[in-house]
Amino acid sequence: MRVLVTGGAGYVGSHTVRLLLEAGHEVTVYDNLVYGHRAAVPCPLVVGELADRERLVATLAAGRFDAVLHFAAYAYVGESVADPAKYYHNNLADGLALLDAMRAQGVDRIVFSSTCAIYGEPTRLPITEDTLQLPANPYGETKLAFERALRWYGRAYGLRSVSLRYFNAAGAHPDGSLGEDHTPETHLIPLVLRVALGQAPHVEIYGTDYATPDGTCLRDYVHVLDLAAAHLLALDKLATRGEALAYNLGAGRGISVREVIAACERVTGRRIPVVEAARRAGDPPALYADNRRARRELGWVPRLSDLDTMVATAWEWHRRHPTGFDEPPAAR
Ligand code: UDP
Repeated sequence: MRVLVTGGAGYVGSHTVRLLLEAGHEVTVYDNLVYGHRAAVPCPLVVGELADRERLVATLAAGRFDAVLHFAAYAYVGESVADPAKYYHNNLADGLALLDAMRAQGVDRIVFSSTCAIYGEPTRLPITEDTLQLPANPYGETKLAFERALRWYGRAYGLRSVSLRYFNAAGAHPDGSLGEDHTPETHLIPLVLRVALGQAPHVEIYGTDYATPDGTCLRDYVHVLDLAAAHLLALDKLATRGEALAYNLGAGRGISVREVIAACERVTGRRIPVVEAARRAGDPPALYADNRRARRELGWVPRLSDLDTMVATAWEWHRRHPTGFDEPPAAR
């Protein structure tokens, strides 16, 4: 297949591009490189904004693509609360422009990076795809609004879509060549591993008084390559099924912040000093997926999502690339 990957220079996108190329697909990445990395893209790359309608349309027109994988988005929850316009414009309005451009070129298949943030603070666990969707921030709102647009566009225009609702992406490519490199970094595992590398004195635990077994938040960490593999399965699905589909992608269990830190100590053999801090605003106590629909309908099996494998692959990446992809600013 010929596949256009928006946001293919980012964390989940770049791992997916790797699997697509290995499977023999022809891939073009479209990325503004604001958060993505040129060094993470081993195939043709168009550097452009989703908001640049002309370039987007020209790219789609030139490529004769069979499908689009749409990763490009901003994904900082706190920033989305402080600056919702940025999220509505980029994640929603520019996403809709992508759908317009696809329609104009007759591209009728899309796999969309959605998120468990569409569920907000669920009242029941594990979270199924039918759990009430009540986002608690503009990031989740924009992702949910786009999912809903996909459904209506499917009905009206015949667009086929799969929305993949990621839980907590973690880990890195086992060969050590691709990994997580966010600026700023806000995610737990890379922040803990920075302490192991001596780049930070301690990690803060955001809240130790939650109603969870050890008082810290539970999250469903899932290996980035398991997420990537689901995109290829979703493309297979779109070859035969027409309607808008949505799947939870989590390993199906909650892991606490303290358990993550203990795993990092085990894997690295280094002591990680912690500081117990206040809760972070907007953090639900526990989020974990019921992933049975993805297993049943996509044939998805998370293979690398045990905690120690996720931490070990992340550790290999961070040890080998202590400053990330380390590109000169001009190349970004
Ligand atoms: N967390 C923490 N200290 C940090 C970063 C995160 O205790 O420095 C906690 C956070 O409160 C949440 C979990 O780790 O319960 C995962 O946070 P992350 O930001 O990685 O992902 P999120 O679940 O917010 O998408």
